[in-house]
Amino acid sequence: MLTISITKELFDDILATKRKIIEKEVSSYWKKELLEISIVDDKIHYDIKKVNKISISNGLGEDKPNIVAVCEKIDYNLKKNIFEFHLGRIVEQRNIVIEDDHKDILIQELLKEKEMLKDSINKDHLTQVFNRRKMDEDLTAFIRQNNAQFLAAAFIDADRFKGINDNFGHDTGDRVLKMIANKLLTHANRLNAEVYRYGGEEFLMLCFLPQEQLIQSLEYLQNDIRSEYIIHAQKQISVTVSIGVSFWKNYSSIERFIKDADRCVYKAKEKGRDAIEVAYEKLS
Ligand code: GH3
Ligand code: MG
Ligand code: MG
Repeated sequence: MLTISITKELFDDILATKRKIIEKEVSSYWKKELLEISIVDDKIHYDIKKVNKISISNGLGEDKPNIVAVCEKIDYNLKKNIFEFHLGRIVEQRNIVIEDDHKDILIQELLKEKEMLKDSINKDHLTQVFNRRKMDEDLTAFIRQNNAQFLAAAFIDADRFKGINDNFGHDTGDRVLKMIANKLLTHANRLNAEVYRYGGEEFLMLCFLPQEQLIQSLEYLQNDIRSEYIIHAQKQISVTVSIGVSFWKNYSSIERFIKDADRCVYKAKEKGRDAIEVAYEKLS
């Protein structure tokens, strides 16, 4: 393995992966270390040796900081008359003291990564609302809460959405879905709710609100969606939603609770769409 000694500044930059190239002036030492001489057709050829890993140190002594990194390639830069060592992944590090400031940054980065990972597991990529997986998890927890008697499922389905895709294209359809999701997120506060994408153009809100207040707030949400426009080639597109609602206090099975809200969506569609239908009692 090749060994290189460098300045503290460069060492810290390499450790922080800010720099990936070490430059060394061409000296007789480096020529001896790096060049392989061969004679082909009575002519002398110089080739740079293939090096797999480089041991990089700063300072002197046994306990000097040291990194071992993969060496991707070594180039000769004719203009600067230097050798360039191109580094890959760091594979080992010894005697590295991480300063407190740097530790804080590392911890913050790790926490940020953890948050992003949690988001990617729980959220729908297109609309940034929660996904079905998170909905199942939340439902199990919500029915155990001491305010479960107020838990309601509002199933929200975009009306004649296929027509939007067919007439204006899938991308515009996506924009409409994002608009609906944003409206649901905006209204979630008033509805004391979480928002989930159930499937294609179907969303579900799990709300904690008494029935009368809930229906009023859902009507307000419907109005807000109806009056929003998406622009496509100078045309204004609007969309309405049909909503089905069920109340957990009438059920003992989560599946029935959600299915009835879904069933009420179909009733709202039969009524002419842009409507709200409520499952008042246990439906068989
Ligand atoms: P209805 O009023 O009866 O609900 O009619 P609809 O057209 O909304 O319902 P239908 O189930 O016939 O069509 C839903 C369409 O949603 C079909 C599917 O191609 C589209 N869709 C599903 N997921 C996405 C998506 O992520 N993006 C877009 N642009 N379209 C989607
Ligand atoms: Mg649908
Ligand atoms: Mg639909």
